[in-house]
Amino acid sequence: MQFDNLYARLPDRMFARVPPTPVAEPGLIAVNDTLARKLGLDPDWLKSPEGLAVLAGNALPEGAEPLAQAYAGQQFGNWVPQLGDGRAVLLGELIARDGSHQDWQLKGAGRTPFSRGGDGRAWMGPVIREYLISEAMHALGVPTTRALAAVTTGEPVWREGALPGAILSRIAPSHIRVGTFQYFSAREDLEALRLLTDLACTRHYPGVSGAEGLLEAATLAQAELVAQWMSFGFIHGVMNTDNAHVGGITIDYGPCAFMDGYHPDKVFSSIDRNGRYAYSNQPQIAVWNIAQLASALLPLMDTDEAKAVERATAIVHRYAELYQAAWARRFRAKLGLLTEEEGDIALIHRLLDRMAKLNADFTRTFRGLAEGRARDEFAEPEAFDAWEAEWLARLAREGSPVEQARARIAAVSPALIPRNHRIEGAIASAVAGDIAPFHRLEAALKTPFTAAADDPLRHAPLQNEIVRQTFCG
Ligand code: AMP
Ligand code: MG
Ligand code: MG
Repeated sequence: MQFDNLYARLPDRMFARVPPTPVAEPGLIAVNDTLARKLGLDPDWLKSPEGLAVLAGNALPEGAEPLAQAYAGQQFGNWVPQLGDGRAVLLGELIARDGSHQDWQLKGAGRTPFSRGGDGRAWMGPVIREYLISEAMHALGVPTTRALAAVTTGEPVWREGALPGAILSRIAPSHIRVGTFQYFSAREDLEALRLLTDLACTRHYPGVSGAEGLLEAATLAQAELVAQWMSFGFIHGVMNTDNAHVGGITIDYGPCAFMDGYHPDKVFSSIDRNGRYAYSNQPQIAVWNIAQLASALLPLMDTDEAKAVERATAIVHRYAELYQAAWARRFRAKLGLLTEEEGDIALIHRLLDRMAKLNADFTRTFRGLAEGRARDEFAEPEAFDAWEAEWLARLAREGSPVEQARARIAAVSPALIPRNHRIEGAIASAVAGDIAPFHRLEAALKTPFTAAADDPLRHAPLQNEIVRQTFCG
Protein backbone atom coordinates (compact mmCIF):
# COMPACT_ATOMS: atom_id res chain seq x y z
CA MET A 1 0.00 0.00 0.00
CA GLN A 2 1.16 3.46 -0.83
CA PHE A 3 0.38 6.62 1.13
CA ASP A 4 0.83 10.23 0.12
CA ASN A 5 -0.56 12.32 2.96
CA LEU A 6 -1.14 15.80 1.62
CA TYR A 7 -3.55 16.79 4.38
CA ALA A 8 -0.89 16.07 6.98
CA ARG A 9 1.41 18.50 5.07
CA LEU A 10 -1.05 21.37 5.60
CA PRO A 11 -0.39 23.79 8.49
CA ASP A 12 -0.79 22.14 11.89
CA ARG A 13 -3.73 24.30 12.92
CA MET A 14 -5.92 22.66 10.29
CA PHE A 15 -6.09 19.33 12.14
CA ALA A 16 -4.90 17.47 15.22
CA ARG A 17 -2.39 14.66 15.00
CA VAL A 18 -3.96 11.76 16.84
CA PRO A 19 -3.66 7.98 16.49
CA PRO A 20 -6.63 5.65 16.78
CA THR A 21 -7.21 4.27 20.28
CA PRO A 22 -6.55 0.51 20.41
CA VAL A 23 -9.45 -1.82 21.12
CA ALA A 24 -9.76 -5.08 23.07
CA GLU A 25 -10.41 -7.68 20.40
CA PRO A 26 -10.81 -6.90 16.69
CA GLY A 27 -13.28 -9.13 14.83
CA LEU A 28 -14.15 -9.16 11.15
CA ILE A 29 -17.57 -8.04 9.93
CA ALA A 30 -16.72 -7.45 6.28
CA VAL A 31 -14.04 -6.47 3.82
CA ASN A 32 -14.95 -4.96 0.47
CA ASP A 33 -12.67 -7.03 -1.78
CA THR A 34 -13.30 -5.08 -4.98
CA LEU A 35 -12.66 -1.72 -3.38
CA ALA A 36 -9.61 -3.03 -1.54
CA ARG A 37 -8.03 -4.09 -4.82
CA LYS A 38 -8.77 -0.72 -6.40
CA LEU A 39 -6.88 0.85 -3.52
CA GLY A 40 -3.90 -1.42 -3.99
CA LEU A 41 -4.71 -3.38 -0.81
CA ASP A 42 -4.77 -7.16 -0.59
CA PRO A 43 -8.19 -8.19 0.73
CA ASP A 44 -6.75 -11.37 2.23
CA TRP A 45 -4.22 -9.34 4.16
CA LEU A 46 -7.00 -7.06 5.44
CA LYS A 47 -8.74 -10.19 6.80
CA SER A 48 -5.55 -11.49 8.44
CA PRO A 49 -4.74 -10.68 12.09
CA GLU A 50 -2.32 -7.94 10.93
CA GLY A 51 -4.93 -6.40 8.64
CA LEU A 52 -7.63 -6.60 11.30
CA ALA A 53 -5.33 -4.82 13.73
CA VAL A 54 -5.07 -1.93 11.25
CA LEU A 55 -8.82 -1.86 10.57
CA ALA A 56 -9.44 -1.70 14.32
CA GLY A 57 -6.85 0.98 15.00
CA ASN A 58 -4.58 -1.35 16.99
CA ALA A 59 -1.71 -0.99 14.52
CA LEU A 60 -0.75 1.69 12.03
CA PRO A 61 0.07 0.74 8.46
CA GLU A 62 3.44 1.93 7.24
CA GLY A 63 3.15 5.43 5.85
CA ALA A 64 0.05 6.40 7.85
CA GLU A 65 0.04 9.80 9.58
CA PRO A 66 -3.17 9.72 11.58
CA LEU A 67 -5.05 12.94 12.20
CA ALA A 68 -8.47 14.38 13.00
CA GLN A 69 -9.67 17.19 10.74
CA ALA A 70 -10.95 20.48 12.11
CA TYR A 71 -14.28 21.78 10.86
CA ALA A 72 -17.23 23.84 11.99
CA GLY A 73 -20.82 23.82 10.83
CA GLN A 74 -24.43 24.81 11.12
CA GLN A 75 -26.34 22.05 12.86
CA PHE A 76 -30.07 22.40 12.09
CA GLY A 77 -29.26 25.99 11.15
CA ASN A 78 -27.37 26.81 14.35
CA TRP A 79 -23.75 27.87 14.08
CA VAL A 80 -21.23 25.69 15.93
CA PRO A 81 -17.73 27.20 15.58
CA GLN A 82 -15.91 23.97 16.34
CA LEU A 83 -16.94 20.44 15.49
CA GLY A 84 -14.20 18.41 13.79
CA ASP A 85 -13.61 14.66 13.61
CA GLY A 86 -14.79 13.64 17.06
CA ARG A 87 -14.82 9.94 16.40
CA ALA A 88 -13.00 9.54 13.11
CA VAL A 89 -9.30 9.33 12.43
CA LEU A 90 -7.83 9.84 8.97
CA LEU A 91 -5.06 7.26 8.62
CA GLY A 92 -3.78 8.94 5.48
CA GLU A 93 -4.33 9.15 1.76
CA LEU A 94 -3.84 5.99 -0.24
CA ILE A 95 -2.69 6.19 -3.82
CA ALA A 96 -5.24 4.05 -5.60
CA ARG A 97 -4.53 1.90 -8.65
CA ASP A 98 -5.91 4.67 -10.88
CA GLY A 99 -3.47 7.15 -9.32
CA SER A 100 -6.12 9.05 -7.35
CA HIS A 101 -5.70 10.00 -3.68
CA GLN A 102 -8.20 8.29 -1.42
CA ASP A 103 -8.67 9.11 2.26
CA TRP A 104 -8.70 6.06 4.53
CA GLN A 105 -10.63 7.02 7.60
CA LEU A 106 -11.47 4.91 10.63
CA LYS A 107 -14.89 5.95 11.93
CA GLY A 108 -15.36 5.05 15.58
CA ALA A 109 -11.60 4.98 16.28
CA GLY A 110 -11.69 6.65 19.68
CA ARG A 111 -11.54 10.11 21.17
CA THR A 112 -9.81 13.05 19.49
CA PRO A 113 -9.30 16.68 20.56
CA PHE A 114 -12.64 17.35 18.78
CA SER A 115 -14.68 14.78 20.70
CA ARG A 116 -16.21 17.23 23.17
CA GLY A 117 -18.38 15.08 25.46
CA GLY A 118 -18.48 12.09 23.10
CA ASP A 119 -16.82 8.69 23.51
CA GLY A 120 -15.28 8.68 20.02
CA ARG A 121 -16.87 5.32 19.31
CA ALA A 122 -19.56 3.81 17.11
CA TRP A 123 -21.65 0.70 17.64
CA MET A 124 -22.36 -2.04 15.18
CA GLY A 125 -25.75 -0.69 14.11
CA PRO A 126 -24.62 2.58 12.47
CA VAL A 127 -21.49 0.90 11.09
CA ILE A 128 -23.52 -1.79 9.31
CA ARG A 129 -26.02 0.82 8.22
CA GLU A 130 -23.37 3.06 6.66
CA TYR A 131 -21.64 0.09 5.04
CA LEU A 132 -24.83 -1.13 3.39
CA ILE A 133 -26.25 2.23 2.38
CA SER A 134 -23.04 3.82 1.11
CA GLU A 135 -22.23 0.75 -0.99
CA ALA A 136 -25.82 0.62 -2.26
CA MET A 137 -25.55 4.29 -3.23
CA HIS A 138 -22.38 3.52 -5.13
CA ALA A 139 -24.08 0.68 -6.98
CA LEU A 140 -26.92 3.05 -7.86
CA GLY A 141 -24.38 5.43 -9.37
CA VAL A 142 -24.68 8.11 -6.69
CA PRO A 143 -21.43 9.85 -5.70
CA THR A 144 -20.64 8.72 -2.16
CA THR A 145 -18.02 7.83 0.40
CA ARG A 146 -17.28 4.11 0.25
CA ALA A 147 -17.05 1.33 2.80
CA LEU A 148 -13.77 -0.59 2.69
CA ALA A 149 -14.31 -2.69 5.80
CA ALA A 150 -16.15 -3.05 9.08
CA VAL A 151 -14.81 -4.66 12.24
CA THR A 152 -16.04 -5.23 15.74
CA THR A 153 -13.94 -4.00 18.65
CA GLY A 154 -14.76 -6.53 21.36
CA GLU A 155 -15.70 -3.56 23.55
CA PRO A 156 -19.10 -2.30 24.58
CA VAL A 157 -20.31 1.12 23.52
CA TRP A 158 -22.76 2.76 25.90
CA ARG A 159 -25.87 4.23 24.30
CA GLU A 160 -29.24 3.24 25.73
CA GLY A 161 -27.41 0.30 27.25
CA ALA A 162 -24.30 -1.65 26.26
CA LEU A 163 -23.98 -2.29 22.53
CA PRO A 164 -21.20 -4.02 20.57
CA GLY A 165 -18.60 -1.51 19.37
CA ALA A 166 -17.50 -1.40 15.73
CA ILE A 167 -15.31 0.61 13.37
CA LEU A 168 -15.94 1.48 9.73
CA SER A 169 -13.12 2.03 7.26
CA ARG A 170 -14.43 4.85 5.12
CA ILE A 171 -12.87 5.79 1.78
CA ALA A 172 -13.34 9.10 -0.04
CA PRO A 173 -11.39 11.33 -2.41
CA SER A 174 -11.45 13.84 0.45
CA HIS A 175 -13.41 14.62 3.59
CA ILE A 176 -13.54 18.36 2.94
CA ARG A 177 -16.90 19.76 3.96
CA VAL A 178 -18.62 23.12 3.66
CA GLY A 179 -17.98 23.28 7.40
CA THR A 180 -14.22 22.91 6.84
CA PHE A 181 -14.24 26.20 4.91
CA GLN A 182 -16.49 27.78 7.51
CA TYR A 183 -14.10 26.89 10.32
CA PHE A 184 -11.22 28.84 8.76
CA SER A 185 -13.34 31.64 7.35
CA ALA A 186 -14.74 32.33 10.81
CA ARG A 187 -11.15 32.63 12.04
CA GLU A 188 -10.24 34.91 9.12
CA ASP A 189 -7.52 32.41 8.22
CA LEU A 190 -7.12 33.21 4.53
CA GLU A 191 -4.05 31.04 4.12
CA ALA A 192 -5.93 27.95 5.25
CA LEU A 193 -8.90 28.90 3.05
CA ARG A 194 -6.64 29.14 0.02
CA LEU A 195 -4.96 25.82 0.75
CA LEU A 196 -8.34 24.11 1.18
CA THR A 197 -9.64 25.66 -2.03
CA ASP A 198 -6.62 24.37 -3.95
CA LEU A 199 -6.91 20.91 -2.42
CA ALA A 200 -10.66 20.69 -3.04
CA CYS A 201 -10.19 21.70 -6.69
CA THR A 202 -7.39 19.19 -7.21
CA ARG A 203 -9.32 16.35 -5.60
CA HIS A 204 -12.76 16.96 -7.04
CA TYR A 205 -12.75 19.35 -9.95
CA PRO A 206 -9.78 18.87 -12.29
CA GLY A 207 -9.24 21.96 -14.39
CA VAL A 208 -11.02 24.20 -11.88
CA SER A 209 -9.17 26.69 -9.70
CA GLY A 210 -9.86 29.56 -7.34
CA ALA A 211 -12.73 30.26 -4.97
CA GLU A 212 -15.22 31.24 -7.67
CA GLY A 213 -14.39 28.20 -9.75
CA LEU A 214 -14.81 25.98 -6.72
CA LEU A 215 -18.12 27.57 -5.76
CA GLU A 216 -19.45 27.16 -9.28
CA ALA A 217 -18.38 23.54 -9.45
CA ALA A 218 -19.71 22.73 -5.97
CA THR A 219 -23.05 24.38 -6.79
CA LEU A 220 -23.49 22.22 -9.87
CA ALA A 221 -22.31 19.09 -8.04
CA GLN A 222 -24.80 19.61 -5.17
CA ALA A 223 -27.64 20.21 -7.63
CA GLU A 224 -26.81 16.98 -9.44
CA LEU A 225 -26.35 15.04 -6.21
CA VAL A 226 -29.63 16.04 -4.62
CA ALA A 227 -31.49 15.38 -7.87
CA GLN A 228 -30.11 11.84 -7.68
CA TRP A 229 -31.16 11.45 -4.05
CA MET A 230 -34.65 12.60 -5.00
CA SER A 231 -34.84 10.18 -7.90
CA PHE A 232 -34.15 7.25 -5.57
CA GLY A 233 -36.36 8.39 -2.70
CA PHE A 234 -33.31 8.91 -0.49
CA ILE A 235 -33.50 11.11 2.58
CA HIS A 236 -30.13 12.08 4.02
CA GLY A 237 -31.53 13.14 7.37
CA VAL A 238 -28.76 15.44 8.66
CA MET A 239 -27.88 17.96 5.97
CA ASN A 240 -25.89 20.15 8.33
CA THR A 241 -23.08 22.13 6.66
CA ASP A 242 -20.52 19.86 8.32
CA ASN A 243 -22.17 16.96 6.50
CA ALA A 244 -22.22 18.76 3.13
CA HIS A 245 -19.26 17.55 1.09
CA VAL A 246 -17.59 20.21 -1.05
CA GLY A 247 -17.00 17.60 -3.76
CA GLY A 248 -20.73 16.92 -4.10
CA ILE A 249 -20.57 13.39 -2.76
CA THR A 250 -22.88 11.87 -0.18
CA ILE A 251 -21.24 11.82 3.23
CA ASP A 252 -22.15 11.01 6.81
CA TYR A 253 -24.75 8.30 6.78
CA GLY A 254 -26.55 8.74 10.06
CA PRO A 255 -30.33 8.57 10.35
CA CYS A 256 -30.72 8.45 6.58
CA ALA A 257 -33.27 6.27 4.80
CA PHE A 258 -34.76 5.25 1.50
CA MET A 259 -38.47 5.72 1.84
CA ASP A 260 -40.89 2.89 1.23
CA GLY A 261 -44.28 4.57 0.80
CA TYR A 262 -43.93 7.91 -0.95
CA HIS A 263 -44.75 11.18 0.71
CA PRO A 264 -42.92 14.47 0.08
CA ASP A 265 -42.95 15.36 3.80
CA LYS A 266 -41.27 12.09 4.86
CA VAL A 267 -38.78 12.40 7.74
CA PHE A 268 -37.08 9.47 9.45
CA SER A 269 -34.50 11.05 11.72
CA SER A 270 -35.53 10.96 15.36
CA ILE A 271 -33.80 14.30 15.97
CA ASP A 272 -35.37 16.14 13.01
CA ARG A 273 -38.49 17.19 14.90
CA ASN A 274 -39.43 20.09 12.61
CA GLY A 275 -38.76 18.25 9.39
CA ARG A 276 -35.99 20.64 8.33
CA TYR A 277 -34.41 17.79 6.38
CA ALA A 278 -37.61 16.21 5.04
CA TYR A 279 -37.48 14.63 1.56
CA SER A 280 -38.93 17.61 -0.28
CA ASN A 281 -36.83 20.16 1.63
CA GLN A 282 -33.54 18.64 0.51
CA PRO A 283 -33.12 20.71 -2.67
CA GLN A 284 -33.57 23.99 -0.75
CA ILE A 285 -31.31 22.89 2.10
CA ALA A 286 -28.58 22.01 -0.37
CA VAL A 287 -28.57 25.54 -1.78
CA TRP A 288 -28.72 26.98 1.72
CA ASN A 289 -25.54 25.00 2.43
CA ILE A 290 -23.99 26.24 -0.81
CA ALA A 291 -24.81 29.81 0.25
CA GLN A 292 -22.86 29.14 3.47
CA LEU A 293 -19.93 27.93 1.37
CA ALA A 294 -20.19 31.12 -0.69
CA SER A 295 -20.09 33.24 2.48
CA ALA A 296 -17.05 31.36 3.72
CA LEU A 297 -15.24 31.91 0.41
CA LEU A 298 -16.04 35.64 0.08
CA PRO A 299 -12.66 36.82 1.44
CA LEU A 300 -10.92 34.96 -1.40
CA MET A 301 -13.15 36.34 -4.13
CA ASP A 302 -12.48 40.04 -4.04
CA THR A 303 -10.91 42.52 -1.62
CA ASP A 304 -13.98 44.67 -2.29
CA GLU A 305 -16.63 42.89 -0.25
CA ALA A 306 -19.58 44.27 -2.21
CA LYS A 307 -18.11 42.92 -5.43
CA ALA A 308 -17.40 39.55 -3.84
CA VAL A 309 -20.98 39.32 -2.59
CA GLU A 310 -22.35 40.22 -5.99
CA ARG A 311 -20.33 37.55 -7.77
CA ALA A 312 -20.98 34.87 -5.17
CA THR A 313 -24.70 35.63 -5.21
CA ALA A 314 -24.83 35.30 -8.98
CA ILE A 315 -23.29 31.83 -8.74
CA VAL A 316 -25.56 30.64 -5.94
CA HIS A 317 -28.61 31.93 -7.80
CA ARG A 318 -27.86 29.61 -10.68
CA TYR A 319 -28.54 26.62 -8.42
CA ALA A 320 -32.33 26.67 -8.88
CA GLU A 321 -32.06 26.29 -12.63
CA LEU A 322 -29.31 23.65 -12.39
CA TYR A 323 -31.30 21.65 -9.87
CA GLN A 324 -34.56 21.84 -11.80
CA ALA A 325 -32.79 20.73 -14.96
CA ALA A 326 -31.12 17.83 -13.15
CA TRP A 327 -34.38 16.80 -11.48
CA ALA A 328 -36.33 16.96 -14.74
CA ARG A 329 -33.66 14.92 -16.52
CA ARG A 330 -33.72 12.21 -13.82
CA PHE A 331 -37.50 11.98 -13.59
CA ARG A 332 -38.07 12.12 -17.34
CA ALA A 333 -35.75 9.12 -17.51
CA LYS A 334 -37.86 7.43 -14.82
CA LEU A 335 -40.81 7.71 -17.22
CA GLY A 336 -38.68 6.41 -20.09
CA LEU A 337 -38.98 9.67 -22.02
CA LEU A 338 -36.39 10.61 -24.63
CA THR A 339 -37.67 14.01 -25.66
CA GLU A 340 -38.74 17.07 -23.68
CA GLU A 341 -42.23 18.46 -23.63
CA GLU A 342 -43.40 21.34 -21.50
CA GLY A 343 -46.10 19.24 -19.89
CA ASP A 344 -43.61 16.60 -18.66
CA ILE A 345 -43.03 18.24 -15.29
CA ALA A 346 -46.76 18.35 -14.62
CA LEU A 347 -47.08 14.72 -15.75
CA ILE A 348 -44.37 13.66 -13.29
CA HIS A 349 -46.04 15.62 -10.49
CA ARG A 350 -49.44 14.10 -11.23
CA LEU A 351 -47.92 10.66 -10.72
CA LEU A 352 -46.12 11.71 -7.54
CA ASP A 353 -49.31 13.32 -6.19
CA ARG A 354 -51.25 10.12 -6.70
CA MET A 355 -48.47 8.10 -5.12
CA ALA A 356 -48.45 10.44 -2.12
CA LYS A 357 -52.23 10.26 -1.67
CA LEU A 358 -52.21 6.47 -1.70
CA ASN A 359 -48.82 5.96 -0.03
CA ALA A 360 -47.59 4.00 -3.05
CA ASP A 361 -44.13 2.50 -2.66
CA PHE A 362 -41.61 4.82 -4.34
CA THR A 363 -39.18 2.22 -5.63
CA ARG A 364 -41.76 -0.39 -6.59
CA THR A 365 -43.96 2.11 -8.42
CA PHE A 366 -41.20 3.38 -10.69
CA ARG A 367 -39.81 -0.11 -11.19
CA GLY A 368 -43.38 -1.20 -11.80
CA LEU A 369 -43.50 1.13 -14.81
CA ALA A 370 -40.64 -0.89 -16.26
CA GLU A 371 -42.27 -4.21 -15.45
CA GLY A 372 -45.86 -3.34 -16.31
CA ARG A 373 -47.16 -3.74 -12.76
CA ALA A 374 -47.07 -0.24 -11.30
CA ARG A 375 -50.85 -0.41 -10.95
CA ASP A 376 -50.51 -3.00 -8.19
CA GLU A 377 -48.78 -0.43 -5.97
CA PHE A 378 -51.90 1.71 -5.70
CA ALA A 379 -54.56 1.02 -3.10
CA GLU A 380 -57.01 2.48 -5.65
CA PRO A 381 -55.65 1.23 -8.98
CA GLU A 382 -58.02 3.43 -11.03
CA ALA A 383 -55.97 6.42 -9.81
CA PHE A 384 -53.06 4.92 -11.69
CA ASP A 385 -55.04 3.91 -14.78
CA ALA A 386 -56.00 7.50 -15.59
CA TRP A 387 -52.40 8.62 -15.25
CA GLU A 388 -51.11 5.67 -17.26
CA ALA A 389 -53.30 6.61 -20.20
CA GLU A 390 -51.69 10.07 -20.22
CA TRP A 391 -48.22 8.54 -19.98
CA LEU A 392 -48.84 6.10 -22.83
CA ALA A 393 -50.15 8.94 -24.96
CA ARG A 394 -47.01 10.94 -24.17
CA LEU A 395 -44.79 8.01 -25.19
CA ALA A 396 -46.79 7.63 -28.39
CA ARG A 397 -46.31 11.34 -29.19
CA GLU A 398 -42.54 10.93 -29.15
CA GLY A 399 -42.79 7.68 -31.05
CA SER A 400 -41.34 5.54 -28.26
CA PRO A 401 -42.51 1.93 -28.28
CA VAL A 402 -43.62 1.10 -24.71
CA GLU A 403 -41.33 -1.91 -24.46
CA GLN A 404 -38.28 0.21 -25.23
CA ALA A 405 -39.35 2.86 -22.74
CA ARG A 406 -39.76 0.13 -20.11
CA ALA A 407 -36.22 -1.10 -20.73
CA ARG A 408 -34.88 2.45 -20.32
CA ILE A 409 -36.75 2.82 -17.04
CA ALA A 410 -35.33 -0.46 -15.73
CA ALA A 411 -31.84 0.95 -16.25
CA VAL A 412 -32.47 3.95 -13.97
CA SER A 413 -35.14 2.81 -11.51
CA PRO A 414 -33.78 0.09 -9.23
CA ALA A 415 -35.57 -3.06 -8.24
CA LEU A 416 -33.55 -3.15 -5.03
CA ILE A 417 -32.80 -0.51 -2.43
CA PRO A 418 -31.52 -0.98 1.12
CA ARG A 419 -34.89 -0.89 2.81
CA ASN A 420 -35.00 0.13 6.44
CA HIS A 421 -36.58 -3.05 7.71
CA ARG A 422 -33.93 -5.15 5.94
CA ILE A 423 -31.12 -3.06 7.37
CA GLU A 424 -32.57 -3.30 10.84
CA GLY A 425 -33.02 -7.03 10.41
CA ALA A 426 -29.38 -7.38 9.34
CA ILE A 427 -28.25 -5.33 12.34
CA ALA A 428 -30.35 -7.33 14.81
CA SER A 429 -28.96 -10.60 13.42
CA ALA A 430 -25.38 -9.29 13.48
CA VAL A 431 -25.74 -8.19 17.09
CA ALA A 432 -27.05 -11.67 17.89
CA GLY A 433 -23.99 -13.19 16.21
CA ASP A 434 -25.35 -14.05 12.75
CA ILE A 435 -23.71 -11.94 10.06
CA ALA A 436 -25.24 -13.90 7.15
CA PRO A 437 -28.24 -11.56 6.56
CA PHE A 438 -25.82 -8.62 6.29
CA HIS A 439 -23.76 -10.46 3.68
CA ARG A 440 -26.85 -11.50 1.71
CA LEU A 441 -28.10 -7.94 1.62
CA GLU A 442 -24.69 -6.52 0.78
CA ALA A 443 -24.24 -8.96 -2.11
CA ALA A 444 -27.73 -8.33 -3.51
CA LEU A 445 -27.35 -4.54 -3.39
CA LYS A 446 -24.40 -4.71 -5.76
CA THR A 447 -26.78 -5.20 -8.69
CA PRO A 448 -29.82 -3.07 -7.84
CA PHE A 449 -31.06 -2.75 -11.42
CA THR A 450 -31.08 -6.44 -12.28
CA ALA A 451 -32.48 -8.22 -9.23
CA ALA A 452 -34.56 -11.31 -9.94
CA ALA A 453 -38.31 -10.69 -10.04
CA ASP A 454 -38.89 -13.14 -7.16
CA ASP A 455 -36.15 -11.80 -4.87
CA PRO A 456 -37.88 -11.23 -1.52
CA LEU A 457 -35.52 -8.31 -0.86
CA ARG A 458 -37.61 -6.40 -3.40
CA HIS A 459 -40.73 -6.59 -1.28
CA ALA A 460 -42.07 -3.56 0.52
CA PRO A 461 -42.31 -4.02 4.28
CA LEU A 462 -45.49 -5.52 5.69
CA GLN A 463 -47.48 -3.19 7.96
CA ASN A 464 -45.79 -4.60 11.06
CA GLU A 465 -42.31 -4.36 9.46
CA ILE A 466 -42.43 -0.68 8.54
CA VAL A 467 -39.63 1.36 10.13
CA ARG A 468 -40.75 4.92 10.78
CA GLN A 469 -37.78 6.32 12.65
CA THR A 470 -34.01 6.15 12.31
CA PHE A 471 -31.37 7.21 14.82
CA CYS A 472 -27.93 8.83 14.83
CA GLY A 473 -26.06 6.18 16.84
P1 AMP B 1 -22.72 13.95 12.99
O1 AMP B 1 -24.06 14.17 13.61
O2 AMP B 1 -22.38 12.53 12.79
O3 AMP B 1 -22.51 14.76 11.78
O4 AMP B 1 -21.65 14.47 14.09
C1 AMP B 1 -21.58 15.80 14.50
C2 AMP B 1 -20.35 16.01 15.33
O5 AMP B 1 -20.38 15.22 16.51
C3 AMP B 1 -19.04 15.67 14.63
O6 AMP B 1 -18.06 16.59 15.07
C4 AMP B 1 -18.75 14.28 15.15
O7 AMP B 1 -17.38 13.95 15.08
C5 AMP B 1 -19.24 14.39 16.59
N1 AMP B 1 -19.60 13.08 17.16
C6 AMP B 1 -20.66 12.31 16.83
N2 AMP B 1 -20.69 11.20 17.58
C7 AMP B 1 -19.61 11.25 18.41
C8 AMP B 1 -19.07 10.39 19.42
N3 AMP B 1 -19.66 9.24 19.75
N4 AMP B 1 -17.94 10.79 20.04
C9 AMP B 1 -17.33 11.95 19.74
N5 AMP B 1 -17.79 12.79 18.80
C10 AMP B 1 -18.91 12.46 18.14
MG1 MG C 1 -20.95 14.65 10.52
MG1 MG D 1 -21.57 11.42 11.60
